[in-house]
Amino acid sequence: MTLEAYEQPTILRHQGALANKFGRSPGNRSLERIDGVKVSDLARAHGSPLFVFSEHRLRRAYREAHRAFSQRYPKVQFAWSYKTNYLDAICRVFHDEGAWAEVVSEYEYQMARRLGIPDTHILFNGPYKPTDALETALLAGAHVHVDHYEELYACERIAKKAGRQIGVTLRINMDVGIYPRWDRFGFNLDSGEAMDAARRIASGGHLRLDGLHCHIGTYITDPTAYGRMAGRLAQLALDVRQETAMVVKSLDVGGGFASRATLHAQYTPGTDATPPIDDYAEAISRAILGAGFRPDELPTLFLETGRALVDDAGFLITSVVGQKRLADGTRSLIIDAGVNVLFTSFWYRHDVLPAEDRGGMQEDTVVYGPLCMNIDVVRPTVLLPPLEAGDLLVIRPVGAYNLTQSMQFIRLRPAAVLIGENGEIDVIRRAEVLDDLKAAEQLPARLAE
Ligand SMILES: *Cc1c(COP(=O)(O)O)cnc(C)c1O
Repeated sequence: MTLEAYEQPTILRHQGALANKFGRSPGNRSLERIDGVKVSDLARAHGSPLFVFSEHRLRRAYREAHRAFSQRYPKVQFAWSYKTNYLDAICRVFHDEGAWAEVVSEYEYQMARRLGIPDTHILFNGPYKPTDALETALLAGAHVHVDHYEELYACERIAKKAGRQIGVTLRINMDVGIYPRWDRFGFNLDSGEAMDAARRIASGGHLRLDGLHCHIGTYITDPTAYGRMAGRLAQLALDVRQETAMVVKSLDVGGGFASRATLHAQYTPGTDATPPIDDYAEAISRAILGAGFRPDELPTLFLETGRALVDDAGFLITSVVGQKRLADGTRSLIIDAGVNVLFTSFWYRHDVLPAEDRGGMQEDTVVYGPLCMNIDVVRPTVLLPPLEAGDLLVIRPVGAYNLTQSMQFIRLRPAAVLIGENGEIDVIRRAEVLDDLKAAEQLPARLAE
């Protein structure tokens, strides 16, 4: 008699959306149109994969956010976070709505200037600003957010050389209960370093402290953390006023409001779990209004909201190129867009929706991108109906950080189109060709044979 080898029993967690009492029913779902335009028409005209942005959603998100803050606080100014999405057309839409620019490198700074944004409407963040860019920005009146002492001293030297006093903003970090703490950027409030930097500015004589800035992190779902941060930033401004007589004119609460994307480990979908923008606006406005500023010295409130304004406006159309059963029987799909253009799929459980609802039984499916790399997984598991090569899928929300972090690793990057409010469809970035990638290279003559 032959005995079968003993196999240890295992319990596999069902990873679908079924067990979630808050979730949607996992019934067939599809997304056939984006802003009224058929997904299949977009793919036919512009290829696959294809990024699609909705101008209507961009403007609606901006107006909602602006309304939420400006109806609670008298002086509000948004500055569009370039690194979240710096396609010219996207930046332009936000600038057109009234946003200034928030940049974190010299090339983002150049992008904003190229779009015609005056320096006085540019907030310049980031831990490294090359001296040239720093000097240009300071002399032209950009709002430079100083990150560390070396930069503070560089600003002093530039102002001294120019023979005039120049205003700067200090980036501050603090513990407001959000972990991991982003204490690598700016001057620490809890240790007294922030106040010391303000004293240094006052005693140095070349600079003026015009603003205080704090960005506590990204995808922060707790509005009360912003309330604590804004309150402490306001208190620091009042302490600075008391001790040095410098009047801080602006408080910048950074970005980081959660978009409606869903994290991998998150139980409820972002569409349900993400707080409305009004909750952030209420917490922040209340904290600053209650801090004790003289009415005529109430600072301007700057916001650098990125993902919450753009994420929902971005879609990625992609095609099924193949499918197979893995060794353990799991169904897998291969699509033509992977982590090369969907960097955020490492953190977020994006919706993956067929562009056509043909029914059929849904099954847990792993969705792979086209890269010859094991990490190229768009969704480790998602319920999908039967699909065939050539079928289109839509992935959302993908408007934040995917294009700016996309790479030409193995594949060139796809085109992006913008659907206008009247249904116009414009290419805002053409698909890359090999020459784009090779333009910067040089082959030494001795190897050119
Ligand atoms: C990235 C960044 C933002 C935008 O953050 P979101 O999470 O996209 O809102 C704003 N300010 C600073 C300083 C940043 O680094």
